[in-house]
Amino acid sequence: MTKTHTIDFDSFFNIINGKKQSSATATHAIDSSSEGQLWEVPVATNEDIESAVTAANDAFPSWSRTPVETRKELIAKFRDSYIFYLEQFIKLLMTETGKPHALAKGEVLEILALFDHHLQLQLPEEILEDEERTITTRYVPVGVVAAICPWNFPMVLSVGKVLPALLSGCCIIVKPSPFTPYTALKIIELAQYIFPPGVIQALGGSDSLGPALVSHPRIHKIAFTGSIATGKKIMALAAGNLKRVTLELGGNDPAIVLPDVDIAKVAPEVAAGCFAFSGQICVATKRVYVHEAIYEPFLKAMVEATSKMKVGKPFDSDSVLGPLQNKMQYDRVRGFVDESKTQGHRFALGPDSATTGSGYFIHPSIIDNPPEDSKIVVEEQFGPIVPLLKWNDEADVIARANNSNTGLGASVWGSDRAHAEDIGRQIEAGNVFINSSAKTTSRALFSGQKESGIGGEWGSTGILHYCNAQVMHVFK
Ligand code: NAD
Repeated sequence: MTKTHTIDFDSFFNIINGKKQSSATATHAIDSSSEGQLWEVPVATNEDIESAVTAANDAFPSWSRTPVETRKELIAKFRDSYIFYLEQFIKLLMTETGKPHALAKGEVLEILALFDHHLQLQLPEEILEDEERTITTRYVPVGVVAAICPWNFPMVLSVGKVLPALLSGCCIIVKPSPFTPYTALKIIELAQYIFPPGVIQALGGSDSLGPALVSHPRIHKIAFTGSIATGKKIMALAAGNLKRVTLELGGNDPAIVLPDVDIAKVAPEVAAGCFAFSGQICVATKRVYVHEAIYEPFLKAMVEATSKMKVGKPFDSDSVLGPLQNKMQYDRVRGFVDESKTQGHRFALGPDSATTGSGYFIHPSIIDNPPEDSKIVVEEQFGPIVPLLKWNDEADVIARANNSNTGLGASVWGSDRAHAEDIGRQIEAGNVFINSSAKTTSRALFSGQKESGIGGEWGSTGILHYCNAQVMHVFK
């Protein structure tokens, strides 16, 4: 494979109908470790939205009738082109998100796993035959999709929508988060060397772009990842024309630790599940229930493990945790710290005093057994402050874990795996991990229960959310 194009990683454009496009107005994201301005990105205008929607609808008839094997060949070429730029994407992702190298590299490599998963998928077809007729159930593309993405995993959560859309025969317009627009705009620019104009496009800008896409009558589906509050607004607006929606939303993931665990091994793993990317992961552990028989030594071991996580700038080689990604999230997490201080909670680790230098840095805090109804237990903090809570009755701790309007992820830790799995089956969550913190894979369906979402992504069935079923009855 030789490289046939050169991508410049220092200028960023909307991608409309196969072309890089600027706009009369530009904005820029903020470097979370210095608070300096990053590169300019164009703010999409109403005309840009109309041009992109028209181009997508114009491209759809031909793209949707392109044989799936041909679509896969183009997706494989897209993968090959991407491989030339892994190092540039890692650097760009570290800059825009504040992720230290290992985490950014993991996300960039996860894109290859997403390609590999989708390249081996088949769209199911079911045939029923009787004397009277042949009935074939097929899955046909839903039309033009808008992908509305959050800031925490800007590559995985955009490409994870692009690939099933392209494979199923949909055209897609990606709207990255204004906090982290760069990697998504760049990977979609790269795709223009491979796909016909209008098949895959990107529009950047402000939060107001989202409602314009959701209400547009010629967009047929919204694939959204983000907060529950925005998910509800999208669902309400999409009801206007009964647009399809997939909603991947927030959570308040519990971990249940049984008394028979190996504390020295498990406590650092639970700590990593709470604090990786400073807790800004939808399936990060948000509250930890530890059996009272091991509570004190477990708390001590978790504090020890967490204290070793060096907080620093993403490009410093010894940084384990970077800054919070943006000012809004920084202020939100400081609010949780201040609330716990005001309530007189005991901090087993922390609290961190507010940053005096530049950058949105917050060191991890662990709260020692706060009341079950405190803000830090009942709300999604999405940051490096986590409560440890005592339990002594299994039915009660399961009820406490399930006492949430959300149901995204959960973990159960115990030496008796069958017992842990039995508890896991009683947890109301879309993704349950036994003896591990959340390690998702595109090979399996990812979805939330309760207010954590509608529909799902990835696995062998996520692609069906980009399709309508069509049943053909052919009479003999
Ligand atoms: P957010 O809801 O604020 O924003 C997400 C996207 O929606 C952004 O692109 C934003 O510009 C856009 N948007 C904002 N208002 C809109 C509106 N009214 N209509 C349409 N679009 C609109 O979420 P965020 O702060 O970027 O992300 C953090 C949240 O995302 C957390 O709650 C986290 O748990 C959740 N999340 C969930 C998953 C999952 O897979 N379930 C994954 C990552 C993050």
